[in-house]
Amino acid sequence: MEVLKNYINGSWIESKEKSTSNVVNPANQEVLAKVPFGEKTGNDANLAVDVASEALKMWRNMPVMKRVQPLYKLKQLLEENIDEISRLITLECGKSFAESKAEVQRGIENVETACATPTLIQSEFSENVATGIDEFMIRQPVGVCACISPFNFPGMIPFWFLPYAIATGNSFILKPSEKVPLTMMKVFELIDQLDLPKGLINLVHGGKESVDALLDHPEVKAISFVGSTAVARYIYQRGTANGKRVQAQGGAKNPLIIMPDADIEMTAKIVADSVYGCAGQRCLAASNIISVGDKKGEIKESLVEAAKNKTTGFGLDDGIEMGPVITPESKVRVENLIVKGVNEGANLLLDGRNAKISGYETGNFIKPTILENVALDGEFIKTEIFGPVMSLIQLDSLNHAIDLVNSNKYGNMACMFTSSGLNARTFRNQANAGNIGINIGVAAPMAQFPFSGWNDSFFGDLHGQGRHAIEFFTQTKVVIERWPKEWTRKF
Ligand code: NAD
Repeated sequence: MEVLKNYINGSWIESKEKSTSNVVNPANQEVLAKVPFGEKTGNDANLAVDVASEALKMWRNMPVMKRVQPLYKLKQLLEENIDEISRLITLECGKSFAESKAEVQRGIENVETACATPTLIQSEFSENVATGIDEFMIRQPVGVCACISPFNFPGMIPFWFLPYAIATGNSFILKPSEKVPLTMMKVFELIDQLDLPKGLINLVHGGKESVDALLDHPEVKAISFVGSTAVARYIYQRGTANGKRVQAQGGAKNPLIIMPDADIEMTAKIVADSVYGCAGQRCLAASNIISVGDKKGEIKESLVEAAKNKTTGFGLDDGIEMGPVITPESKVRVENLIVKGVNEGANLLLDGRNAKISGYETGNFIKPTILENVALDGEFIKTEIFGPVMSLIQLDSLNHAIDLVNSNKYGNMACMFTSSGLNARTFRNQANAGNIGINIGVAAPMAQFPFSGWNDSFFGDLHGQGRHAIEFFTQTKVVIERWPKEWTRKF
């Protein structure tokens, strides 16, 4: 079985680590590859930093217009290879082929947005701030940047950072999730075809050891992390303690309010897509569905119908809308959480446990599940599930609903379905979350906007994507110059 290589200094090289972890198809437990996993992956990461530091020397002085040229080529290569990349995402991550393709498309949009860096990076200039004195601010690269990404969007999340880091003059090291490294292996085959200095973009495998090496290496100046809250907090603390700038996006538990004036039919379909898309393994998946007012009966019926209609199976098979969760351990964790919700008093309206998919009996499948009347003071309502499970909650007023939304320790996303502009405005103003959806089920910001999580969903100041990314990957230098008029007479 193939052991995946690192991509360092423009070449595919074997890891110094001999221990491995399996990359597994979650639909049938087939081992797809082996990935280096252990202490010596830290040495691999250190080697990548050395070459990235070297590559930086010429790249940071390359004109910005030249630095974006390889991104145009990358966009073209990603588009030409979108089916193969999407196939790999489905194989190792489990989501449906359509979901994988949509994911890669989102990644490509970030490459396109980063092509605007020559404009986005333009400096600010003030003439005559005092007599004969001009002042201006320029943006310079920060240095070697590293990204640590999670399992659930292997074809998109690295692109929240990589194209911006490169366009702004930095070098880059990616450490993908050990559960889904194949997608980026394919993308790096494409990156290898670009006209870039050796060592500018590197790929290093592993888990905690390779990450810790990146967090501790003095030449790494910026860390972009996406993953669970516990690890995001750790990354932020260790990275900033070592003097790096860090952006660390964490977990979520997203509430969604349905007002009685919402269009029930349309809402139910969109809500089901939000909860069950990517088998609920999405940091923007709606989880707590709060029905306000007297329409709960109708809403419940429509949601159960929409949930039941989701076809579950292997994501490369025709017509499949929902795949498995990532590991057998995740399946057990989600099923235990369902039991916890029931033990806390909830009624199991739709039970997706014990899902059997013909031909994929060993897959980590859970079918759409709905719990109603979950305890408002329990643990279930607060815990990130990361599986295809909906909590249906009934409240009597918008104020109560907003209180429940804001009692959430996370703040990744909050949504409302309504036909009232005033309800929408009140909610948008008061909800404590960084990404807000009005009649939208997955409020995923487009590439030109920051991915704006709050509270325990984000540690740092500047988020991924768009203008925030340009700011994160650059440091400002303010220059003040005096050119006295009298001097002209001397020449
Ligand atoms: P994870 O935190 O387990 O792993 C993420 C990355 O961190 C992986 O590359 C992993 O190898 C590394 N890692 C794991 N443990 C580590 C440790 N102790 N020290 C150093 N590095 C470590 O997350 P995951 O299970 O891959 O992804 C799911 C989580 O990511 C969910 O909580 C989800 O909400 C979150 N997520 C958040 C966003 C967002 O934008 N806020 C987006 C996608 C996923």
